Order: sequence, then structure tokens, then C-alpha cells
Amino acid sequence: MLTHEQKKVFIETYGCQMNMYDTELIKSILISNQFGLTEKESDADIVMLNTCSVRDNANRKIQNRVHEIKKAKKNTMIGVLGCMATNFKTELLENKSFPIDFIAGPDSYKTLPTLINSLISSGKQQYDVTLSEFETYSDINPTRQDGVNAWIAIMRGCNNFCTFCVVPYTRGRERSREPKNIVEEVKRLVKDGYKQVTLLGQNVNSYRYEQYDFTDLMKMVSDVEGIERIRYTSPHPKDYPVKLLHLMKERDNICNQIHMPLQAGNDRVLHKMNRTYDKQEFLDLVTQIKSIIPNIGISTDIIVGFPTETEEEFLDTYDVMEQVQFDSAFIFKYSERPNTRAAQKFPDDVSEADKKSRVIRLNDLQNNISLKKNHNLIHTTQKVLIESLSTKKSNNEIQGRAECNRIVIIPKEKQKLGDTINCLITDATRNVLKGVELKENQEFAISTKRNLNLIHS
Ligand code: SF4
Repeated sequence: MLTHEQKKVFIETYGCQMNMYDTELIKSILISNQFGLTEKESDADIVMLNTCSVRDNANRKIQNRVHEIKKAKKNTMIGVLGCMATNFKTELLENKSFPIDFIAGPDSYKTLPTLINSLISSGKQQYDVTLSEFETYSDINPTRQDGVNAWIAIMRGCNNFCTFCVVPYTRGRERSREPKNIVEEVKRLVKDGYKQVTLLGQNVNSYRYEQYDFTDLMKMVSDVEGIERIRYTSPHPKDYPVKLLHLMKERDNICNQIHMPLQAGNDRVLHKMNRTYDKQEFLDLVTQIKSIIPNIGISTDIIVGFPTETEEEFLDTYDVMEQVQFDSAFIFKYSERPNTRAAQKFPDDVSEADKKSRVIRLNDLQNNISLKKNHNLIHTTQKVLIESLSTKKSNNEIQGRAECNRIVIIPKEKQKLGDTINCLITDATRNVLKGVELKENQEFAISTKRNLNLIHS
């Protein structure tokens, strides 16, 4: 029998950036325990599915994947990790038609080597879904691949209990990492050539470590020499710190961009969602944000068709979107997530046709806003961090992001990954900006709205 040192692991990741980050932690834990990693599922002795319970039908999708994996190679060991592991532990273990070998929740990744050893020696299913009040994995250096941006979880868990969300139950209570430890990680990343860090938390505003809050942490990270860009996601509108806006305005290396979930624009629906702010408070916050940082990029998440949402209430969400003019929005139809308060208390009573129509109307509105806002950027100069040396459509173009987080496509020249270049924006669609690199000593003059003359000084 193979020992675990001889086993190769393939990890498949579902869901949010926090899960992507957790996969990087898991890889590091496995490598330091002498497991091998593979990028090819067919080479793997062990397949780990790092799951998410937030999306629709997660359970069914994972069941299908497990059957596919077993069908392709009967003796592959399969582990279910992440939110689904905590949320469906009993169902996963008791369902005999669901042949999984081990389960580990988001706070149990350090026990993976022990779980797998016990599985190998006993041949019996193993699990650990204990939620911890303290685990932050601050002693683990994640195994990263992307060489430009690094995700850093600054905290774990959530105390907010939005009624549609399962995260507080699957990831436990909020706990924050020591700022010194986060700063050390950022310094290591700069040394390794990373240009940008994105600080992650379910609600970053809740970050607290002794006397330090999130703005203090941002200031400390911004002070790290050599870090070119800092982003964060997500802040909750209920307690967004205004002093952070002043810091963002002051510091060149903190990007002028906020992803701030609205979820709904009607007061009664927001109350039912337990979001703890109302429509006017959200609008006032956006006004304040724009008054301090006028060129800020703001994106959001929205759920339509929450239980009992009427057409009139939906129109409040539409109205907020019209007033705010988000740069982009992720718009979802509500669907029940097992074990949430909404699933237990509120029947999913908005018809599928109404939900569909509301998504279409919001998407149409947002597409028009995004196109208009992107067009307004034509003829501006944007600092672009190069993230990819090709695009989906062409090897002669490269792709990066402006500070406001918009994608910018540029003709390929001699740029390298991680370069920050000045770009003149020459065209725009609703999803991307197109531009040309402005070289040093190059200025531009605009003769007509669509006719750009580059002039060498
Ligand atoms: S803030 Fe609300 S939506 Fe976000 S993770 Fe916490 S409970 Fe879920």
C-alpha cells in the first residue's frame, strides 16, 4: 500500500476568492507534509473538492463530480472540503450512494494529513468539521501561483447572519490575524515580485486586533516599501469606516475601488435580509464616498426575488442602481440555501418568471450604465497593471487593470507581466477599455473625439 508521502493530490476549487486562498493554504499544508501535488486529475491518487455552499445546487454539482471522478478511476480517494463539508457533513457521510472518503471543514485543514493517514490505515471514512474560535492559519505561508496579485485573508468567519447566507454557519465566528503577521506576509510577497495584494474578509470592516482596526491595518500595509497596489474585499455598508476613504485618497498605492454589496434597495426587504442598513443610508454612504474620492470605481452584488419581494419593492433596487451608477454589478436570482434562516423561515414565493424578468431588467440597466461610464473614460490616461500577456481573443494583445478595476486591453509590445504602464484609453465596450501604451516623453493631443494624434515631445 502507498504511504501518504507517495500520494499525489489534485485540488478542484469552487466559489469565492476566500476559497481560492484556502486552496493555496491547503497546498502549503500538503507540501510541508510531503504530499505530492498534481495539476492533472488523471494522475491523482487523492482528489480534494474545495466546495462552496453559496451558489445554487452546490450539493448536486458536487455529487455529480464525485461520481465522475470515481467512474474515471475507481480507487481515487475523494475528499470534500470547505463550506459544503460543514453544511452537509451528515448527508455526505450517510449517503451511501455518495462515495467520499474524507471531509474537512474550513477550520480543519491542518488535520488533513492525519485524516488521510487514518483513512489509509483504517480504510474508514474520516472527517473533521470543527469550527474554531482562533484558527486564522497565520502560521501557514500559502503556495501561490499568480505572480502579480496575491490574496491575503486578514480574518476568517462572519458575525453578520444575513438571512440568505450560510457563511456564518460554515465558517464560524469572526477572528482577525495579527497586523504584524500580515505586514510580514506583504513584505515577503514584495520580495517575491508581487505587485498587488488584495486583503480578504467576509466583512473587512470588522477587522479588529487589539487596538488595530481595518484602517490601521491598511495604513500599515500601505507603508510596506515596494507594494504598488492594495485592494480589499468586501466591506459591509452598515459600518464602512469614513476614515478609510481619507486614507485611500491620501495613499497612491491604495486603489480607488470598492466592491460593496447592496443586495437590495428596499427597506423592508433589507430588514428581512438582516442587512441592518436602509436604502437612504446606502445612498448617503455612496454620496459621501464620491464626495471624498470622486473618481472611485464602485461595484456591487444584488439579489432579486428575495421571499415576498413585490414588484414595487424591486423598483427600489432599480432606483438605487440608477442613482448610484455602479461601475459593475453581479446580479443573482434568489434561491434557497439549505440551513440558512431565510430557507427555514421564508417560503421562496417569488415566481421564477418574476425573478428572471427582474434580473434581465437590472442587467439591461447596468449594461447601459457600464457602457456609458466606460465611454466617459475614452481619452483619459489610466495606470494599468499588466496581468496577462494575451487575451481570450488574441495573442497580439495583453490585458491589465486600471486602478478603478476595469480591464484594459492593449496591443502587445515589450511589456512584461507585472509592469505598470500609462495607457491612453481609445475605445470602450461595456466590459472592457481599449488603449495604447504611452511611452515616456510621449504626450497626446486630441483633435477630434475619435481621432487621436500621438505627438513625440
Ligand atoms: S456579511 Fe452577510 S452575506 Fe457576507 S458573509 Fe456575512 S452573513 Fe454572508
